[in-house]
Formats: sequence, C-alpha cells, structure tokens
Amino acid sequence: MRRIAIIGGGLAGVSLANLLIRNPNLAIEVYESKEFSERGATVGLGRSALVALEKILPAAEDTLVQKTGATPTESIRVRVGSGKNQGEFLFEIPNMKPRVSVPRASLLKELLAHLPEKILYANMQLTSIDKGPDGVSITFEDGTTQLFDAVIGADGINSRVRGYVLAGQEHGSSPAGFWDCWAMFPSEKVRGSIYEEYLRPEQQYAFTADGALLLYALAAGGTMVMAVISSIEDAGQRQQGDRQRKLGDEEKERLRRKWSVANGIVEAILSEPSLHAYSQHEPKSTAAYCRDNICLIGDAAHASTPWQGAGAGQALEDCVILSALLRSITDTKDMNKAFRIFESVRMPRCEQVIQSSRQVGNILCSLEKYETLEDWRKALEGKWDYMYAFDLGKQEKEALKALQSDVAKIVRIIPPKEARVAHASVVYLDWKGRPLNLEFEMLAAGFDPYIGNDSSILVETDSEEL
Ligand SMILES: Cc1cc2nc3c(=O)[nH]c(=O)nc-3n(C[C@H](O)[C@H](O)[C@H](O)COP(=O)(O)OP(=O)(O)OC[C@H]3O[C@@H](n4cnc5c(N)ncnc54)[C@H](O)[C@@H]3O)c2cc1C
Repeated sequence: MRRIAIIGGGLAGVSLANLLIRNPNLAIEVYESKEFSERGATVGLGRSALVALEKILPAAEDTLVQKTGATPTESIRVRVGSGKNQGEFLFEIPNMKPRVSVPRASLLKELLAHLPEKILYANMQLTSIDKGPDGVSITFEDGTTQLFDAVIGADGINSRVRGYVLAGQEHGSSPAGFWDCWAMFPSEKVRGSIYEEYLRPEQQYAFTADGALLLYALAAGGTMVMAVISSIEDAGQRQQGDRQRKLGDEEKERLRRKWSVANGIVEAILSEPSLHAYSQHEPKSTAAYCRDNICLIGDAAHASTPWQGAGAGQALEDCVILSALLRSITDTKDMNKAFRIFESVRMPRCEQVIQSSRQVGNILCSLEKYETLEDWRKALEGKWDYMYAFDLGKQEKEALKALQSDVAKIVRIIPPKEARVAHASVVYLDWKGRPLNLEFEMLAAGFDPYIGNDSSILVETDSEEL
C-alpha cells in the first residue's frame, strides 16, 4: 500500500482525492490549513473542465445542476463601456458548449461528500517537507510529523510545497498587472438602471472601460447578479504588498467615472460594504512541477489570471492526468517517473493558459489603444481557439504512452556464464504492472529460462531503472 498525502483541500486537492481513493493500492490523506471551504461566488467550467469533472464526480452533469445549483452559461458579449464608441458591440467571447457557472462552496461540498471523513484533516498547516531514505516526511504547524511515499502539493498560489520542489529557483508569485473586486447582490437592485436586454438569464455581459472591464451575469435563477470589476494595476497599488486591500473613496470615484453605461451595476458593486480589491498574481517562471516523489497540481503549479476563466479547469484536468498515471504504476520507485511525465504533458498547456490569459486581459483593457473597433476585435480573435481545441482524452493517452515508453526496455539478456551482476528473485514488471515476458527473451537469447532464483542473470536495459 503506497501512502500519498495531498496538501491543500481546495478544488484541486479534493478532486484528486476523489480519483485516487478508487485505487485500492493507494492510501490517501488530505491536509487543509483551515476548515475545508471555498472563497468567492461562482466558478465557470468549460467543456474540457466538465469532461474532467465527469470522471471525478459520478454523473457530474446531473449532480452539478441538482446539488450545486450550477447554471448553464452562454457566451460573454463585450460592449464598449465609454468613449466615442460607447455602447457599441465589440466582441463575443466564444463559448464552446457546455459551459456552466457553479457556486464554489457547493461544488467543494459535493466533492467532499464522496470522501471518507477519516482521510480529511482540517486545520493542519504544512510548515516543512523533507525527503529522506524512507520517504517524504511532512511537518505541520502543531509540530506533528508524518511519513509518506509521495506528496502532492495542491496548496494554491502561495504553495509551500512549491517552495520545496523549486528550492534554489524562482518560485514565488508576483503581480500580473491587474486587480479585481467582485460582489453578488439582488438583481432587483439594478433592474431599471440597465436595459433589460443586458440582463438576460444565461448570457454574460462585459463592458470595457479605460484600463478596466466590468463583467456580470444573472445567478440563482435570475434573482441575483454576480459582478466583477477587473482593472489594470498601477505601480502604487502594486507596491502595497498585501494582495487584498480596501478600495478608498477616491478610487471608487475614479472607477464610477470610467463607465458611462451599465453604471447601475458599477454602483451596486462599489456600494457593497465588504468590498475588497484583490491583486491578481501569477508565477513568473516554473522550472518544474515535481522533485523527489513530490508533485504540484492546480494553482500551486500554474496559477493564472482569471481573464480566460480557466484556472480551476486546469486543476481538474491535472487531476485526471495524474490519477491515470498513478493508476498505471505498481512500484513506489516509479512514482517520480509518473510525476515527470505529468509535468511534461501538462506544463506546455498550463503555461499557455498563463500567457494567453494575461494577454487577453491587456487587450480587453485597451480602450485607447486600437484605432477602430475592427482592429480591437482582430486582436481578440482566435485567442480562445487553443482552449477549445484541447482534447483531455488524447492527453491522457499521450501521458500513458510516455509512461510505457519511459519504462526501461530490455535491450539484451546476457546468458548466465557471461553474467557480471547477480539479479536473484527479481520480478520485472511492465508499465501496467504485468510481469515482463523474460521467458521469451531468454529463449531468444539462446539459454534456458527456467533457472532457479539464485541463478545469475544480467539484464541489460536502455536505462538503469528497469
Ligand atoms: C477572481 C477569480 C475568478 C476566477 N474564475 C475562474 C473561472 O471562472 N473558471 C476557472 O476555471 N477558474 C477561475 N479562477 C481560478 C480558480 O479559482 C483557481 O484556479 C482554483 O480555485 C485553484 O484551485 P486550487 O485547489 O489549486 O487552489 P486553492 O483554491 O487556492 O486551494 C488551495 C488550498 O490549500 C490550502 N493551503 C494553502 N497552504 C497550505 C498549507 N501550508 N498547508 C495546508 N493547506 C494549505 C488553502 O487553504 C486552500 O484551501 C478564478 C480565480 C479568480 C481569482
């Protein structure tokens, strides 16, 4: 039985646990620094994220609608919110169906409902991690230490596990150049202040402004509005250090002046008493996702700005690929191999999301930059194509194929009389854990395969890791 600790009980950690507990050869424990809970209102999940979720949650599509209050969402229609083209249609952010908007807390609750309580440890903050000869030891704030065969860091953007995996290299996250604030309020509050055509259920709306974007949609069967203001962060705001800050009266006044249309929604956000601005952070570089039987997933590996609404989706995709790889190995010593392959297939996609998302943010906030609406539109065109072209099933197959070819191949079997190294009582397994057909290779090499356990055979491979 291999013991795996998952650090972090957010969407990534809890989703992975749902997949890994189905493997009888794995003992899983999930450690969360606070109570298991989610911050924020809803999370948008696109086609690929839903394909992943279908593997994680039994009958995800029905479960989402019935138990979490998820609602299907249409495209995002972006209009110009001020200036000479005020009110003009700019762009329709395409949505390859299905896409749903899911209340975060209900989604986490549903994911937790399928996990045995005895594997969930709340209020356990990881403080240090160490790889020794017997496994990976992890220590918590309360002083307790545990030993595992492998550790998965799903501990979010300020991941401590990431600090270990990338020790000696750049690993922190830093401002991506934007901040956002969001609010949820009764739709009654804004009806009358905005055209009814800009308040259709299932449609999402955005209005650009000078250096900012307002995005909103109806939620909870049309009774509520979920709205976000995202803005370019100036140097002064960036230097404040803390990612979360209160918006001052002056700043609110400047924001009010940015939108000439949809100001009812802007006002409703800005008048929320608990309103806070969050600086959007991202890692500037990530050289590796794994080291020493320790692997990163979700925001711990590849946090991105929210401009393409894909961070949680990436985390769910990670879980499907990593669990498929871990299902296919039978030996603890192959775990890091699985992690390396996970890194090699996931990193290019996740890095693309980070770059593309930031680019989209910059284009959407560029009211003054483009001469014509047509130029602006062209800059946005095609930016979502790579997301919709992605095929999770194909990536899973690629990952498993890589694992198969990564396992050392027998190049030559040297008959016993020539043998220099003794390998007694060794059972060689292939990538699926089936015993390798040494018998065939031995016969082909011209000697009797039916040798006793104490016979000496040298098996030469193309890698030292057979
Ligand atoms: C404004 C905004 C809007 C977004 N909208 C979307 C969207 O529409 N669609 C989408 O797909 N994505 C969206 N995202 C991104 C998405 O929210 C994240 O990518 C996703 O929630 C990351 O999940 P995670 O589990 O990796 O990390 P987290 O949710 O950060 O979970 C990490 C967990 O680890 C715990 N932890 C941290 N340190 C320790 C420690 N030392 N020991 C133990 N536990 C620890 C934390 O308490 C936390 O519970 C959005 C993000 C933002 C900011």
